Amino acid sequence: MGPARLQRIIDCIMSEHVVQLFDLQKKNCEKVRATSVSQRIEKLRRLQRNILAKQNQIEKALYEDLRKAPQETGLCEIYQVTSEIKHACRHLRQWTQPRRLNNPLIFFGSRASIRYEPRGMCLILSPWNYPLLLALGPVISAVAAGNCVILKPSEVSPYTSQFLQTLMEETFPREEVAVVQGDQTVATELLDLPFHHVFFTGSPAVGKIVMQAAARNLASVTLELGGKSPVIVDETYDLKDAAKKIVWGKLLNAGQTCVAPDYLLIPESRQKEFIGLAMNSSRKMYDRAAENPDYCKIISRRHIDRLQELLKDSIDRGANVEMGGHFDESRLYFSPTILSNVSLDSSILNEEIFGPILPVVPYQNLEEALHFVNQKPRPLSLYIFSTNTTTVNTILNRTHSGGVCINDVAVQFGNLELPFGGINNSGIGNAHGLFGFRAFSHERAVLKQPRVGAMTFFYPPYTERMKKLIQWAIRYL
Ligand code: NAD
Repeated sequence: MGPARLQRIIDCIMSEHVVQLFDLQKKNCEKVRATSVSQRIEKLRRLQRNILAKQNQIEKALYEDLRKAPQETGLCEIYQVTSEIKHACRHLRQWTQPRRLNNPLIFFGSRASIRYEPRGMCLILSPWNYPLLLALGPVISAVAAGNCVILKPSEVSPYTSQFLQTLMEETFPREEVAVVQGDQTVATELLDLPFHHVFFTGSPAVGKIVMQAAARNLASVTLELGGKSPVIVDETYDLKDAAKKIVWGKLLNAGQTCVAPDYLLIPESRQKEFIGLAMNSSRKMYDRAAENPDYCKIISRRHIDRLQELLKDSIDRGANVEMGGHFDESRLYFSPTILSNVSLDSSILNEEIFGPILPVVPYQNLEEALHFVNQKPRPLSLYIFSTNTTTVNTILNRTHSGGVCINDVAVQFGNLELPFGGINNSGIGNAHGLFGFRAFSHERAVLKQPRVGAMTFFYPPYTERMKKLIQWAIRYL
């Protein structure tokens, strides 16, 4: 039997398995919907216990996939997941309460409220860059909201995906939460099924495919996408502090972070000093990065090639390599890199970088910096380093982005009170805490009328008296 035929048979078996799983969960959906807040909290606590008991396995999986240091796995993956669980357990009772609303006078005597009801069958497609956090974060919100879930983690981070499968099997019955592994073929099969909600985290290009597929079933979507998150440093902010924070955000996970600062806009007069300070910070954090155990690898050969091409294209168009510019394909290593004099039409200033390269772009005045940001698609995050309130407000008022962080980078992700999400090209909808719970809930409007409601005065026949009453309502109600 040839490999193509074998692959077709495997695809066929896989496809049947996926449909069976979907049907199994669908039958169970109403039962899960009826679970109490206490039962959902107990499920989340079970998940937390299992995660804590398997911390070593998580660290190993993340090391295999991304050569991530255990400390970074602890801080950026496990802690973020456990805090999302604790936050949900603490607030779930309040989140699930129906919300009473005010009544307009014409609805005198009625009761209006919103009930938060589970959406039902949810599909979660997650990426490889924070493979534990970005898979479990939405699972936590979906379970808190009372849904059934099929999770398809990324095929590009196979160790963590395998771990997630085992973790879910040990934590949830498969008719409630299940993992299906596979690449885009499996994702496509899943997207053909009539899920009620699709929560996708990944690139804008695949986000468009997911939204089109969801449209065939009129499924609602949450799209957590990427983009080029700019940093604007002005004349006032302490450069040493800015350099340290920007370099940290850029090199965390070797730049493979959706909220990483993508490029830097800085007054021309401060550019040289910034580059010197950034180089110092980089060396302090990741001394001899090539051998440094704290520095992550690039996820795959394909991604190294992509970064290498971005770098080559910039150099061909006249960019100066101020620091780094080295890579070793065999070890999936790409050095911390700073570029200056980057041509505005080079790919690195037009595609999401998603790697440890920082292009520094000088500007003459704030107007020029705003124009630079605004001519690109709306980013996931925008970072401002300034002590001048007028400058901060001008930037806030004249730009768009999913979120903003002032005087720091990336840390807004960790505040679960804030919604986390993009806008247009960087995403649709929000995740985290209450906003994640709402993403997986249908806001059902309920109106309870008194036996004799005000509307009965407006039933036909349409008399002159009623005409006057309507005129009065138009004017005064
Ligand atoms: P990706 O879009 O390639 O893949 C994400 C998921 O989609 C994976 O599970 C993958 O198997 C699946 N997929 C791939 N091709 C598909 C197709 N044709 N049809 C259906 N599903 C398909 O993204 P990635 O490379 O894993 O992650 C990097 C991107 O994700 C970057 O753009 C980054 O900015 C973004 N990202 C965004 C966030 C956020 O929270 N906003 C977080 C992390 C990453």
